[in-house]
Amino acid sequence: MAISGECFCGKIKYKFNGTLKNAQSCHCSRCRKAFSSQASAYALIDADEFQWISGEESLTSYIGEHGFGLQFCNKCGSTLCGIFNGVVHGVTLGCVNGDPKVELGRHIYVGSKARWEVIPEGVPQYQAGAPENY
Ligand SMILES: [Zn+2]
Ligand SMILES: [Zn+2]
Repeated sequence: MAISGECFCGKIKYKFNGTLKNAQSCHCSRCRKAFSSQASAYALIDADEFQWISGEESLTSYIGEHGFGLQFCNKCGSTLCGIFNGVVHGVTLGCVNGDPKVELGRHIYVGSKARWEVIPEGVPQYQAGAPENY
């Protein structure tokens, strides 16, 4: 199944021929800032199956600790993907078009969530990191 995504202004587009994995939401204070939202909404991809279609030259990177970073549009500011050591590592679910056939499977760092956020029930929640990968 082909999945596509794009930024808010539409300049940067990508496509992905695979499945999104380990979709999760992290509620830590860092992810709230990075995603300008109540939490992250992020899924892992296989970099071999990912391809920029347009606007790659408009990507700007912010590299944090340990070689992990985010790439965003320098025109509209949408954060499109995470990178690890320069390779696309996952995508932000907010920029995915349509139904990528994945649901957030867990919520992590709910112990540091924003006071104003109400997390939906029925999905595993962890006060800090999850005990294992899934
Ligand atoms: Zn844009
Ligand atoms: Zn986080």
